[in-house]
Amino acid sequence: MPCFHDVVIIGGGPAGCAVALSLLRSHPGASIVVFSDADPLRFKIGESLPPEAAQLLRYLDASLPSTLSTHLPCAGTASAWTSSSLEEHDALMNPFGHGWHLDRARFDETFRTAARSAGAKFSEARVTAIRRENDLWILESEADGSAVHSRWLVDASGRRASAARLLGLRTRKLDDLLAVHALFSSTSGTTEDRDTRTLIETCSQGWWYSALLPSKQRFVAFHCDAPSAKGAIRTRTGFLDFLHDQTNHLARIMGKHEYDFSAPDDGAPVGPQTTAACSSQLEGWQSQAYFVPVGDAALSFDPLSSQGMITALEMGCILGTELAANLIQLDGFSDERVIVERVTERYAEVWKHFEKSRKYYYSVQSRFDGDQFWASRRVNM
Ligand SMILES: Cc1cc2nc3c(=O)[nH]c(=O)nc-3n(C[C@H](O)[C@H](O)[C@H](O)COP(=O)(O)OP(=O)(O)OC[C@H]3O[C@@H](n4cnc5c(N)ncnc54)[C@H](O)[C@@H]3O)c2cc1C
Repeated sequence: MPCFHDVVIIGGGPAGCAVALSLLRSHPGASIVVFSDADPLRFKIGESLPPEAAQLLRYLDASLPSTLSTHLPCAGTASAWTSSSLEEHDALMNPFGHGWHLDRARFDETFRTAARSAGAKFSEARVTAIRRENDLWILESEADGSAVHSRWLVDASGRRASAARLLGLRTRKLDDLLAVHALFSSTSGTTEDRDTRTLIETCSQGWWYSALLPSKQRFVAFHCDAPSAKGAIRTRTGFLDFLHDQTNHLARIMGKHEYDFSAPDDGAPVGPQTTAACSSQLEGWQSQAYFVPVGDAALSFDPLSSQGMITALEMGCILGTELAANLIQLDGFSDERVIVERVTERYAEVWKHFEKSRKYYYSVQSRFDGDQFWASRRVNM
């Protein structure tokens, strides 16, 4: 016998869990299933959580903000963006207080636990096929058992936009930004790295980012275009040589604490990895009935903006409330097309705001005016 649900969410990251929690908050009787193929033991990128996120977490589940105490408070940002000197923004000057450097895999798992406790069912499996029949979504997955049937389908599968792709939809990319990244452990027995600021430093071919993690490992990422992410930089020595050649502040921290590549827990190769970090928008999703993308599946941002998680949470809160109103047939809120229109408008506002600030940050950097990475970003605006 098939299982019928009000809402199926593909993806148990911040966006998917925020949809589930905010929907159940307004409509505790809703039947929700979340498909999640996340591995909670595997390192996950995206550790900087801004202080404003605490309010959203509290709205979603009163116990979530207290779990942040097991992550690392972030003391602020130190950025060599417009000049070679560091410009510092101390968290003490922020009215919202400090943000956090998260153990992202653990943070996401805490979120899934909260959604489970609130009443969402989880299927720890990857969705492999989706079709629409008799006004219902029918999903197949790698899990044993029959297909799942649902009224609403939410794509919260991150940059993979798995559901959208299975439906034949495409994303539009603003650029081809890549992150070449690695985790480092200090091998110094004498100096402990206590610099919990987020560090950003530009060079001719892109920009570097680094943050200390709760595990005491240091995450380092170089953001660049595809040609700069090829060749020696993908090797251990090539990455380190490039880092020491192209940065001052980061190279000093790495040298002082004698950082070397960490051995990954999951048996992955020791050394730099590459991941997509482009800004993109999912196009044409409004043509599908009872379908909404959320979080990175809908809009993904250049990591410079640091707005990925907080926007995923905000979008998830809004969408969950809208879906609850639809399911309980609240007057004026119940129509599917109205929800799609409202969500589309909200996403357009978010994107406009993001593009404006992206334009601003890339245009105020003029040290490397003649270099391709920077020139192309200014031309694109
Ligand atoms: C290099 C880089 C650095 C970043 N740094 C930051 C940062 O410091 N701070 C910040 O706020 N943001 C950062 N981000 C962005 C941030 O990580 C994302 O915006 C955020 O994770 C979006 O949340 P989400 O729930 O939409 O997607 P995700 O967190 O990607 O979650 C999607 C989930 O869907 C699951 N899934 C996918 N397909 C399927 C399927 N077919 N079946 C079942 N499950 C599926 C995945 O396992 C995953 O758990 C960074 C991004 C990049 C690329």
